[in-house]
Formats: sequence, structure tokens, C-alpha cells
Amino acid sequence: MYSKILILNFPSSVAQKALVCQLTKKYDLMFNILSAKISNEKEGYMVLEISSGTKAGFNKGVRFLKDQGVSVSSPEHQIYKDEEICTHCGACTAVCPTEALHIKRPEMEIIFDKKKCSVCELCVITCPSRAMGLFSAEAEEAI
Ligand code: SF4
Ligand code: SF4
Repeated sequence: MYSKILILNFPSSVAQKALVCQLTKKYDLMFNILSAKISNEKEGYMVLEISSGTKAGFNKGVRFLKDQGVSVSSPEHQIYKDEEICTHCGACTAVCPTEALHIKRPEMEIIFDKKKCSVCELCVITCPSRAMGLFSAEAEEAI
């Protein structure tokens, strides 16, 4: 299974089209919406985790989006959790919009699932111990 988080920017001309649904219908891709919003100018922004059986299938889907005028990029940064510093206070789970940070019960341990992270950085500014941070991801073309 090939899986990757991508940032999609939709110009206003295509923001109302159900392009992302076509990834499933036409290209047999699975997607998980980690974050989505639309600006006052009707431009769309979405962070998706897209999964495919093969990298070739993934690339075909991304090519389709680009051909429709969607700007596709990879997050420039990634989030890390410093397990040595984390006190498992749980503050970050209250702000994490994708449940990438969640509580494992009954241990009450705070788990970071990097695959679900939309790199919104809310945990970085919330964590009182500075256990959450950013590092530069390698520059990588989405396709
Ligand atoms: S807010 Fe910081 S210290 Fe608290 S659980 Fe989250 S990562 Fe750990
Ligand atoms: S950056 Fe932090 S708050 Fe935002 S999705 Fe990732 S783990 Fe959750």
C-alpha cells in the first residue's frame, strides 16, 4: 500500500467540483480528509491522506487532479513528538483536529499517529512542555 499526505489548493473555478470523489471512482484510490476549508474568494484548501495499491495508481490520480487545475504539493514540514519530554498531560488532544494525537486507554498514554497529522501546528503552540515540534521534510514532488 502506497500512502502519502498531500496539500491540495483548488482555484475558485474548480472548487465546487467533486474532483476528490473521482479519485475513488476513476483511480481506485482511498482518501482521508485531514483538513479542509474554503476562502472568502471561494478557493479551496484540503489536506488529504491518499492511499493506493501502487505508486503508479497514486501518480495517475494526482496527475488527474493537476490536469483539472488543482495545485498539489507535499507538506514542507512534518511534526514530531519528543517522547522523552512528553508528560502525557493530554492538552494537545483537545486541539488536534484529526485525532492524530489521541489518548490510549486505560493507560492514559498520549499517542501520536503521524499518518493522520495534517501539519496544522496547533499542538506545537499548545504543548506546555514543548514536546511537539516541526522539522523540515525532504523536498519531494508529489508526482
Ligand atoms: S501537550 Fe505536550 S506534554 Fe501534553 S500530552 Fe501533548 S505532547 Fe505530551
Ligand atoms: S499538527 Fe498537531 S494538532 Fe495538527 S494534526 Fe498534526 S498532530 Fe494534530
